[in-house]
Amino acid sequence: MKEVDVLVIGAGPAGSIAASLVHKAGLRVQVVEREKFPRFVIGESLLPRCMEVLEEAGFLEALKEKKFQEKSGAKFLKGNEVADYNFSDQFSKGWNWTWQVPRAEFDQTLVEVNQQRGIPVEFQTTVTAIEFFDDESSITTVTDVTGNEKKIKARFIIDASGYGRVIPRLLNLDRPSNLEPRKAVFAHIHDPERSNFDEPNRILIVTYAPGTWVWIIPFSTGITSVGFVGSFEFFDSIEGDLDQKFKTLIAGNDYLKRRFEKAALVFQPRKLEAWSATTDKFYGKGFVLTGNVTEFLDPIFSSGVMFAAVSSQLASHAVIKKLSGKEVNWDSEYTRVIQQGVDTFRSYVMAWYKGTLDTIFFAKEKNPLVVRQICSVLAGYVWDMENPYVKGHATELRRLARRIEQTQGVG
Ligand SMILES: Cc1cc2nc3c(=O)[nH]c(=O)nc-3n(C[C@H](O)[C@H](O)[C@H](O)COP(=O)(O)OP(=O)(O)OC[C@H]3O[C@@H](n4cnc5c(N)ncnc54)[C@H](O)[C@@H]3O)c2cc1C
Repeated sequence: MKEVDVLVIGAGPAGSIAASLVHKAGLRVQVVEREKFPRFVIGESLLPRCMEVLEEAGFLEALKEKKFQEKSGAKFLKGNEVADYNFSDQFSKGWNWTWQVPRAEFDQTLVEVNQQRGIPVEFQTTVTAIEFFDDESSITTVTDVTGNEKKIKARFIIDASGYGRVIPRLLNLDRPSNLEPRKAVFAHIHDPERSNFDEPNRILIVTYAPGTWVWIIPFSTGITSVGFVGSFEFFDSIEGDLDQKFKTLIAGNDYLKRRFEKAALVFQPRKLEAWSATTDKFYGKGFVLTGNVTEFLDPIFSSGVMFAAVSSQLASHAVIKKLSGKEVNWDSEYTRVIQQGVDTFRSYVMAWYKGTLDTIFFAKEKNPLVVRQICSVLAGYVWDMENPYVKGHATELRRLARRIEQTQGVG
């Protein structure tokens, strides 16, 4: 039986970042990944807060060589109204740019860097069972591509299995999210017309109908990711199969119609639904959960990979500390920190679907300091307690929207 210090489940960003950091600390690490890479996964727009983690994990140089499309801000469009948040105007100290990435290539790059460092990554290898012991070590059963069962003994497990939710499923830790279930219908599209449009390489969030929005994420390859997010009822109200629905949706908005109506699809539209999920706890005896396994909220603010990165960074630091024989307070050093970031974004997600952010984003006049403070949240700096729109996330947005409504456009 193979023996390692740390077993990492999943080779997405959360898994690769964790593997890199624990390997750097001199621990023996093994990654097991269910799929064959490169594989398609959604989640293509990053946030600047990711960059600090990618730097610490030693991935920045390899990623820069890929020449991914740079992302300098978040731009929201409603009819002819524009709300433009430029990361260089941020209130918090930090990175002012990041990337828009085809995830298959991004995730593959992280894996290749890890492999070059000597980290073993076993693909098409699925975790099927885990037995934990009193000393927190464990034996994990995996099935490889040929159907062979193998056992891996580990001193600690980092579960970064994303939507696979390996440990929450095995230990019955899953619980439903308090966000309404939503659905996305999306495709990659050849985008030869993009240069005829203003700022053609910028990511755009387009308000489509009440409660429904569209992401437009241009890649440096000339291909653009386009996805619609809305309620189940909204998509049910549109006739036809997924292809037909996608065409109807593109034709239903002036901007989308002009840019994409005649463009060829790279793959037929796909759907994802009811993705919000969380668990009872983010750690336990012998394991920690990172990335999407902890909690995934909603795609509106592109926070998924950022949380995958930051949670893996924090969890890896704690695992390194623990395996060097020191005491870790998992609640204060990990759970509460991640929960604070998640709760901040949850307030913004709820404010988006309630229309509170619509009032704020499209106010006629805006207070420049408030714009900078909200911009920092949109860049992922949700741990800066100097920012009143982080510290008071649950109340400040409502208060600001009320003020704008009362003064008819003054934010
Ligand atoms: C509609 C939609 C749009 C989104 N848009 C964005 C966006 O623009 N920006 C953003 O940052 N995020 C976005 N996200 C979120 C993003 O997809 C995730 O947050 C991100 O991929 C999380 O990374 P991860 O490493 O935690 O998990 P993943 O990238 O999902 O990686 C987990 C890996 O674990 C493997 N695995 C699963 N089960 C097992 C098993 N039993 N054994 C071994 N391996 C296993 C999987 O094969 C997978 O490769 C979006 C999500 C949705 C639903």
